[in-house]
Amino acid sequence: MDFGLDPDQLAVRDSVRTFARAELAPGYLTRAKSTVFPWDVHRRIADLGVYGLLAGPEHNPLDREDFVAAGLAIEELAYADFNLANVAIPVLLMSSLIRAHGSPRVKDEWLAPLVAGEVYVAFGLTEPETGSDAAAITTTATVDGDSYVLSGEKTSVTMLANAQGMIVAARTVRGGAAVGVSAFLVPLDSPGVDKSDIPDTGWKIMGRGVLHLDGVRVPADALLGPEGSAFGTVLNGFDFTRPLLALTGIGCAQSTLDLTAEYVRNRQAFGSPLSRFEGVSFPLAEHLTTLEAARLLCYSALWKRTAGERHTAEAAMTKWYGPLMASRAVKDCLLLHGNYGYSEEFSLEQRLRDVMAVEIADGTAQIQKIIIARERYGKDFLPYERR
Ligand SMILES: Cc1cc2nc3c(=O)[nH]c(=O)nc-3n(C[C@H](O)[C@H](O)[C@H](O)COP(=O)(O)OP(=O)(O)OC[C@H]3O[C@@H](n4cnc5c(N)ncnc54)[C@H](O)[C@@H]3O)c2cc1C
Repeated sequence: MDFGLDPDQLAVRDSVRTFARAELAPGYLTRAKSTVFPWDVHRRIADLGVYGLLAGPEHNPLDREDFVAAGLAIEELAYADFNLANVAIPVLLMSSLIRAHGSPRVKDEWLAPLVAGEVYVAFGLTEPETGSDAAAITTTATVDGDSYVLSGEKTSVTMLANAQGMIVAARTVRGGAAVGVSAFLVPLDSPGVDKSDIPDTGWKIMGRGVLHLDGVRVPADALLGPEGSAFGTVLNGFDFTRPLLALTGIGCAQSTLDLTAEYVRNRQAFGSPLSRFEGVSFPLAEHLTTLEAARLLCYSALWKRTAGERHTAEAAMTKWYGPLMASRAVKDCLLLHGNYGYSEEFSLEQRLRDVMAVEIADGTAQIQKIIIARERYGKDFLPYERR
């Protein structure tokens, strides 16, 4: 068993670390309070090659697809700016979906500008009436000649306000009969598209929004993969986005622990630095340990992904455990800052509000536990009959 990183992985980690700690970390708090998306910063991250890591040989700075390298890049971004790391994950997912399942036209039009940070493609699965139970979506894509006509509503869409395109999951209807859920790349300037914003407690630079689709017509080649295959293609992508999301929490929590260690080293109480009290140092030690465990779970899942091994349960484990441990660590760090931790002048309360998002996005803890039990013990452990 080898836990080492190879030279390519080290190069990705070190180049992102150097850039992110120098260029991104100082601006995190200011950016995090704003709803204006920093396109200039986004393009600089694109210039590092991060967005091309899963986009195929033409765009990948490495000579192979390496999910561990993607994880290292995401963790390093999150150490400096949690939100920017979460901007990057949909780019990795969308580019890998387009590369693997897009038609030649969709690839030509979207892949290069997406990877260059010039456009953004959001992802719409969740609907007002259904999130965890994704198979119950009601948005339809009705076949009409050479086109699909989409109608319905998607909610909780990350980056919707800033996106030019969106991969939409919709129930396909052909000749009056439903033929499964398919994924389509929908340009957001299409007639019949309308958007509105959701005001959020954190995650602000990305924002979330509601997308209304009222008879939106897309050509047949907007379909990604075969008709009815969206759960195969998209949910397969969740198996790597879940460890990546967990790593954003872990990166953010790690940097919060590191800055808290500095704080308690310098803050005095009862004639001594806070760091000398076990009530202060032990929580730090405990969080360092749980974060390391969560981190290893993530890289193990990403290693399996790269190796082509099944890793659905491991991905779900990372997504339950990593965000939970991250939120707990950030909250304890806030408390260890005393009254300063609660102030908007410091980053602690912002970090807590931001990091909690990954306990929900891409599926809650309960849903991950359902997946883990199903993967290990079978369908008798599902809360429903398989549809
Ligand atoms: C910051 C953020 C970003 C997001 N970005 C996107 C995006 O870009 N695109 C997108 O499509 N969606 C996105 N989402 C939506 C996210 O995927 C859903 O919120 C999530 O899957 C939960 O669905 P829901 O909100 O409808 O909650 P529900 O499904 O209504 O669940 C509510 C609660 O009930 C629990 N619950 C539900 N079913 C069960 C069960 N069987 N057993 C036990 N407990 C259960 C859930 O765990 C949860 O705690 C985002 C969400 C957030 C918070």
